[in-house]
Parts: sequence; structure tokens; C-alpha cells
Amino acid sequence: MEKNVLQTDLSGKVAVVTGAGGVLCSYLSKVLARAGAKVALVNRSDASIIRYAEEINAEGGVAKAYKGNVLIREDMERIADQVLQDLGPCDILLNGAGGNNPTAQTDKEYYENGDLDRDDIKTFFDLDDDGVNMVFDLNYNGTLIPTQAFAKHMVRNGGGNIINISSMNAFLPLTKIPAYSGAKAAVSNFTQWLAVHFSKCNIRVNAIAPGFFVSKQNQKLLFNDDGTPTQRSQKILAGTPMGRFGNTEDLAGGLLFLLDDKAAGFITGVVLPIDGGFSAYSGV
Ligand code: NAD
Repeated sequence: MEKNVLQTDLSGKVAVVTGAGGVLCSYLSKVLARAGAKVALVNRSDASIIRYAEEINAEGGVAKAYKGNVLIREDMERIADQVLQDLGPCDILLNGAGGNNPTAQTDKEYYENGDLDRDDIKTFFDLDDDGVNMVFDLNYNGTLIPTQAFAKHMVRNGGGNIINISSMNAFLPLTKIPAYSGAKAAVSNFTQWLAVHFSKCNIRVNAIAPGFFVSKQNQKLLFNDDGTPTQRSQKILAGTPMGRFGNTEDLAGGLLFLLDDKAAGFITGVVLPIDGGFSAYSGV
């Protein structure tokens, strides 16, 4: 089995990863398995997680796929019980399901006089109610509901570790995506709230805030149909002092560090940027 960048030992622990069918969390599921955890991969559709679980098992790890929607409480409670039976009580929860929706974004970065009278662009005034609600729901409730289902087992079992996924736009909103920015700010805030709430029962709660990683959800924002970087991509790279997009591998060290009870045992309630310096840079 491949070795992780840090030797955090999660042997015997059970890790639940939501959104495990996606770009970032499929990789992070492997990182957890390589550290010794038994991994439950949870996703709304199950084709990809069945394959990822097989890949982990073929590498010598232990993984199982569970189909479920993070917004449906019954799904999460059913999976929590099933994971308990199959693998044991949940020790680690990585709340990875999340994302933006194109119906909740504006076409332009800045409103300009006259835009209201144009029908060829989607302005702030045209944002779709359902799209906005969907983005808030997925990112915020999609973190809260699985936490209720799985932290119950942590509380009973004497402790655990929760990792949420925030974003750069939680620190400062990005243009065009007000719902996603607000929802991720809420995820950061909720991370702090949970850290305080569970501080007396040996559950640490932290978040990682990835910078810009290429994935299904942002592909269209970052690349033109012919594969060349969009204007937005060029701005992102100019705003990232390290001058590149993140690779999924860049997230492994931060995740393992936060989960390591010896190295990070006094760390709870932080949102760790993994962003090549984006959040530190004023642009000047
Ligand atoms: P992704 O779209 O590749 O993966 C998201 C996964 O979640 C998909 O497999 C999808 O099927 C699943 N999912 C969506 N809704 C679900 C639901 N209701 N129930 C269960 N599963 C559901 O996204 P990604 O880029 O891997 O992002 C993972 C997390 O990281 C998200 O929270 C995202 O907001 C965050 N993030 C990503 C970036 C980036 O640059 N890619 C940057 C910052 C934060």
C-alpha cells in the first residue's frame, strides 16, 4: 500500500466520508485508509464509491460504499447504524459533500448601469430561489445532518474527530457566487460552534479550506470549452502566490495532522487554509 505524507496512525478507527464519490474526497478516503482507518464511503450516487471502495480494498485497506443523501436524515441514520454493524462506531467524520450550483451565480462580477434591462445576462436580481436554497442546504445542512447522525456514536463511544470542508470564499466572498460564499462562511462558523459544543466530550472539530482545486463543479468556471484557462482562472492564479492550482495530494498533510490526536490534540475550531497563499495575499 502507498505511504502517506505523514505517519498519523488511524489503525482500528472507523472513518466516514461524505461526498466520497467526488474528486477531493475520493482521494482523501484513500489517505484515511492508508493511515489504517476502516473507511465508509458515502455518496448520493453509488457507482463511483463502489469502485473507489474496491480500489482501497485491492490496495490492502478496508472500505465499504454506502449510498445516501446527506440532506435526508433517514439516510444518514440508516447508514450510521449500518456502519456500526459493518465496521464499528464512527470515530472520524469527514463532511465532504458540498458544492455550488450554476443557477445561484451571477453572470457578471460587477453590476453595471443598464444591466437590469438586459435579458441576455443573469444579474443578481435574477438569482434562482431554488438554486440559492439548494446551495445553502447542501453545504450547511449537508454538514449538520450527517454530524447529528454520526456524532451520536462518537458521544457514546467516548470521543472522535470531525473535519468539515470550508473554502476560500468563507474568508472573503468570491464574485459571482454569493450563495456558495455565504454557505461556506456558515460552514466555518458551524465548525467553531461544534468545536465549543463538543469540547467537553473529547470530540475535536476542525475544517480544511482548500484553495483552488480543479473539480467537476468548477471545471466550467476555470476552463473554456477548448481547455484554455478562463479569465477567472487567470485571476485565481495571479491571486495565488504559489502560482498554481492545488493537487488533491496537497490536502493529505493538513487532514492527517488535524486528525492526529497526539500532534493536534489541543487544536479544535480552526479552519486551515490549504491554498498556496491565496487567503494571505492582498493582491498587491
Ligand atoms: P465534487 O463535486 O467532485 O464532489 C462532491 C461529491 O458530493 C460528489 O461525488 C457528489 O455526488 C456528492 N454529493 C453532492 N450532493 C450530495 C448529497 N446531497 N448527498 C451525498 N452526496 C452528495 O466536489 P469536490 O471538488 O471534490 O469538493 C469536495 C468538497 O470540497 C465540497 O464541499 C466543496 O465545496 C469543497 N471545496 C472544493 C474546492 C475545489 O477547488 N474543488 C475548493 C474549496 C472547497
